[in-house]
Amino acid sequence: MVSRMKNRKRDSIFEDVEKIVKEFVLNAQEELESRWKNWELDVALREFHEVVGGLLARQTTLAIQIARNPLLWNGHGAPVLLRAMADVYINLAWIFGDAAERPRKFILYGLGQIKLYLEHRKALRENRPLDPQEEAYVRGVEDWIQSQRVLEMTDVNLGSWAEITTRKMAEEAGCLDFYNYVYIPFSWASHSMWPHVEQSNLKPCQNPLHRPHRIPHVEEAGINPLYLHLAAKYLGKAFSLFDEKTGVRAEVPSALHILERRFEAFAEKKRKKNAPRR
Ligand SMILES: [Zn+2]
Repeated sequence: MVSRMKNRKRDSIFEDVEKIVKEFVLNAQEELESRWKNWELDVALREFHEVVGGLLARQTTLAIQIARNPLLWNGHGAPVLLRAMADVYINLAWIFGDAAERPRKFILYGLGQIKLYLEHRKALRENRPLDPQEEAYVRGVEDWIQSQRVLEMTDVNLGSWAEITTRKMAEEAGCLDFYNYVYIPFSWASHSMWPHVEQSNLKPCQNPLHRPHRIPHVEEAGINPLYLHLAAKYLGKAFSLFDEKTGVRAEVPSALHILERRFEAFAEKKRKKNAPRR
């Protein structure tokens, strides 16, 4: 009986979460579409429009992926995606600083990376007979690079695309706080660094004969809506940046603000349910 009640309670929470997520996904997509529709194309800055549009769509996609996967709303999975969102934001902020030059740099660096990757694949073949499938793949990628009419300009750049560190980019773009408080801590998880591994994947050994040491640990993770809120915040941040830099106004409500209202209503519902009955 108790477990049935518990199940029913859990099902109703899942129903609420599902509703909130569906609404958020729809609103996020509409926010992107509305901005894109209202941003008048400047043909002289074609690449700027492409890169900004692509990065905004990437940010929207990442937020939607996080939203749709509540089993990732924990400290193991979500930070990897949130760190990717932090990258998108800092890249965007820096690109807005020079609409003529930086988008081109972004594209050329990416193409250079693919060129390098193809060279590595070709080197792996050595003297083996050509595999037609591999040939077709490499040809396909080369055609894709060529179709962008920049093959001859595609220098392989081994540094970072902006030729400066992400920290410097953030500093120049006026978002160093975001770099320090978001990008850095989420990097611990996405690069599997000690601050993350020690806290999430090790635990103290209980054997009294050993000196204190840590042993591997695969932690059970719950579902924490904080991570959905963060994804929505970083998406909202990218949209606000876009609005500020382009002067474009979206004609639809903010996915972030609606989500925050739903969270408040949800908390209120929970408070009422848990209030002592008189
Ligand atoms: Zn031990």
